[in-house]
Amino acid sequence: MSDRSANAPTLPPEIARRRTFAIISHPDAGKTTLTEKFLLYGGAIQMAGQVRAKGEARRTRSDFMKMEQDRGISVSASAMSFDFDGYRFNLVDTPGHSDFSEDTYRTLTAVDAAVMVIDGAKGVESQTRKLFEVCRLRDLPILTFCNKMDRESRDTFEIIDEIQENLAIDVTPASWPIGQGREFVGSYDLINDRLDLMERADRNKVAQSIAIAGLDDPKLADHVPAHLLEQLCEEVEMARGLLPALDPQAVLDGTMTPIWFGSAINSFGVRDLMAGIARLGPQPQPQRATPRQIGPEEGKVAGFVFKVQANMDPKHRDRVAFLRLASGHFTRGMKLTHVRSKKAMTVSAPVLFLAADRELAEEAWAGDIIGIPNHGQLRIGDTLTEGEALRVTGIPSFAPELLNSVRALDPMKAKHLDKALMQFAEEGAAKVFKPMIGSGFIVGVVGALQFEVLASRIELEYGLPVRFEGSQFTSARWVTGPKDKLARFVEGNKGHIAHDNDGDVVYLTRLQWDIDRIERDHPDLTLSATKEMM
Ligand code: GDP
Repeated sequence: MSDRSANAPTLPPEIARRRTFAIISHPDAGKTTLTEKFLLYGGAIQMAGQVRAKGEARRTRSDFMKMEQDRGISVSASAMSFDFDGYRFNLVDTPGHSDFSEDTYRTLTAVDAAVMVIDGAKGVESQTRKLFEVCRLRDLPILTFCNKMDRESRDTFEIIDEIQENLAIDVTPASWPIGQGREFVGSYDLINDRLDLMERADRNKVAQSIAIAGLDDPKLADHVPAHLLEQLCEEVEMARGLLPALDPQAVLDGTMTPIWFGSAINSFGVRDLMAGIARLGPQPQPQRATPRQIGPEEGKVAGFVFKVQANMDPKHRDRVAFLRLASGHFTRGMKLTHVRSKKAMTVSAPVLFLAADRELAEEAWAGDIIGIPNHGQLRIGDTLTEGEALRVTGIPSFAPELLNSVRALDPMKAKHLDKALMQFAEEGAAKVFKPMIGSGFIVGVVGALQFEVLASRIELEYGLPVRFEGSQFTSARWVTGPKDKLARFVEGNKGHIAHDNDGDVVYLTRLQWDIDRIERDHPDLTLSATKEMM
């Protein structure tokens, strides 16, 4: 169970005011629009439209990014920081496409809560459900935003029922919509007994809020047409009778989600959602690690890499490792220990992802995400500390579901291919296996689109056209066990053995039957479809 209890340790105010979260949604539900409004009310941008505009400007810089744009998906994730009402929000973007679920999974290890956006007309969609399940694995608190209420949407009870039944979580309404589609006038804020009216003329204007003394207040009739008011009173009475009341502890435990109804594009409901994150969303949480967990209240700095992104800036061939700080107060120039290599590392040019641009981070606190430019030393799953040999756990690597061999179209440049593949393996963008017999590499991914992305990145970033071709294998399993037994197994199965970029042994096959047989015949060996990144 989580440690998000009322008797959690008292944190320094700078840490307690941090809210680090991700938005999960099905494509098109409104994640980008909502992000934009968050940044607008967080004072990080002056005008809605900048996130998209900026995204496009950046994307046009390379064809790879153009491909991303053509596909209408977001391949690369990033982090954004902004302030709201005395709180520091760190929003970590999750790639939306299902082919990138592994990346998304790892991103969700770096946040303390998730905002689930659903489309009021569509309800819980496939991708929402998948991402929700990932959050569930970590008992992440989830706040729900039901978007596009300015359009024809489903009945409010039906939406709530669907979430409760599909996702097996209690839902408590934080607001209640008044009318829908053309008739949508706003919502009744059930937490603060307030009437929020939507402004249709100016999409960036924050809703007008009217203090109301409960649903009996005659003032309501001045703003809400009679038939809608009658419906509202009926529905709220029913909701209060049927649905659980807000229980902040249940929200922190991940067993209850509050839901707000709004319209991101009309800026409606967004501030209330932000206030909800501030008030309900957890402060930075303890991080699972070995040999002991890391508490956010600890004075010393510890953090872990959950994402590596290469060539973010085409002018500098850098890689940026995204580090989630698990504890302490980081200052620029600090010398940290890279636990895997036991080497010291001076972090002299860390970046904070303030929405407007990357900025040099002078300091950061537990909960924050900083980018560390490096030349490949930092890998996903790495832990940095002030000396203690702690290792963050629970950041998995999944066995790929699709395997292809890869070939450089220009054999003279085959050497560059090794380098490119190693880089993508370290970034976590693909699994790269070197078979014991034969030349070349086998590349494994979770979704077919990743092959296209890889091919176009290898061409763009390394000037090397490549072709992916079907391989004789379809499954990969990491093999572990006692040294001598493992060595004997490798000797006897050379045609099926490869090594991954960490040098670990992988068994390749096209038959599940093979895997079952080995498990039966070699009880000392373990065949695993996941490997913990470290
Ligand atoms: P994403 O794929 O989840 O990032 O979704 P976007 O934010 O790009 O939104 C998808 C589409 O829905 C865009 O055309 C938006 O303009 C539109 N949209 C977003 N929010 C609303 C809303 O509150 N009402 C309406 N009617 N459309 C919206």
